[in-house]
Amino acid sequence: MKFTDFGFDERLMEGIDASGYENATPVQEQVIPLIMAGKDVIASAQTGTGKTAAFLLPLINKIITDPHEDHTNNALVIVPTRELAVQIAQHMEGLSYFTSVSSIAVYGGGDGNAFVQEKKALSHGADVVICTPGKMMAHIKMGYVKMAGLKYLVLDEADRMLDMGFYDDIMFIIDSLPKKRQNLLFSATMPHKIRELARKILHHPEEVNISISKPPEKIKQEAFIVYETQKIPLVKHLLNKKDFKSVLIFCSSKISVKQLTRDLKRARFNADEIHSDLDQTNREDVLIKFKSGRLPILVATDILSRGIDIDNIDLVINYDVPHDGEDYVHRIGHTARAAAEGSAYTFVTVKEQRKFMGIEKLLGKPVPKAKVPDELGETPAYNAASSGGQGGDRKFSKPRRFQNNTKR
Ligand code: AMP
Repeated sequence: MKFTDFGFDERLMEGIDASGYENATPVQEQVIPLIMAGKDVIASAQTGTGKTAAFLLPLINKIITDPHEDHTNNALVIVPTRELAVQIAQHMEGLSYFTSVSSIAVYGGGDGNAFVQEKKALSHGADVVICTPGKMMAHIKMGYVKMAGLKYLVLDEADRMLDMGFYDDIMFIIDSLPKKRQNLLFSATMPHKIRELARKILHHPEEVNISISKPPEKIKQEAFIVYETQKIPLVKHLLNKKDFKSVLIFCSSKISVKQLTRDLKRARFNADEIHSDLDQTNREDVLIKFKSGRLPILVATDILSRGIDIDNIDLVINYDVPHDGEDYVHRIGHTARAAAEGSAYTFVTVKEQRKFMGIEKLLGKPVPKAKVPDELGETPAYNAASSGGQGGDRKFSKPRRFQNNTKR
């Protein structure tokens, strides 16, 4: 389906052309007409499906064409992490470039300057506010946020927001909004608690289901069955074996990220780290360097596993087995994007074997087991009986900042 079929305003069409989009993705094809028709929507769609434009495009179009009050915030997009807020704000900026629709990203961790800017925009009224729950709640409590004319609410990655404990914050924000509004909920998964949330917030929603819980075939997946002590030597061995241009290594804890990065740097690899202990400027710098190709190896917590848009990664290493199958698909989905080929290696220790077998079940087939080089010594066998269960992975959040406020 072509974008011209949606009947979008010309100025929005210019932004779509400039972004290089020609055909709508399946989620866009299904969701855009529903939003344009004023329906509430619950959509199960993951990152990579084009879900962001699926809600931004009709919202921008409505703000351009429907009469609305000035001096009020018009649309509120609530997201789990700063990085996702930044990314959506950038997306928004690109698509709305030729329109006069204004937007602002509001998220935690900024300095006093950012707070003043946010306060100014929120009390004056921005067309689209993209926010993380905690920071938005803080602004609302201070009493100056203009919500009286708000017409649209989007909850993006709702499952992740609930996993991160944002339920109360979200409900607090929603209580401050006008009751009559259009509600859109996007979630990668649809567990019971999301259905409950949807029941509370949405009015007779239309349901759209676009799941991509299988990784693309072109990603070459392999698993290495190892002891914990063999992981760092194995990373070094793999990085030395082939000239990878861009490598993303996921660890399940900040401690492992720091230790691995330290070891790689000592061994003279050009590597850096990203996790929630770094301040915002550092995180931004690291991400920019990695995206631009100046930093070839990035070691990260799950901060980066979802919603982050980086092309040209030729290798993803799961230094620890991800929390679940969806996380595995998200993590390895960073490689082999666009037309490129990519590899995804997962290190599986004895206590992680059962968890990894669960992931293989979700994938519908076993991940080929690669041979660990002889010089790293003997390796464990791969068998469910020897596995010690979940392995205590922890997930971390927290990312960086972006500001775009172009009030007409
Ligand atoms: P998302 O699922 O929203 O994170 O989008 C994933 C990627 O697809 C982003 O880089 C978008 O810019 C891109 N994208 C979204 N819609 C389209 C489209 N219709 N055609 C081409 N690329 C798109």
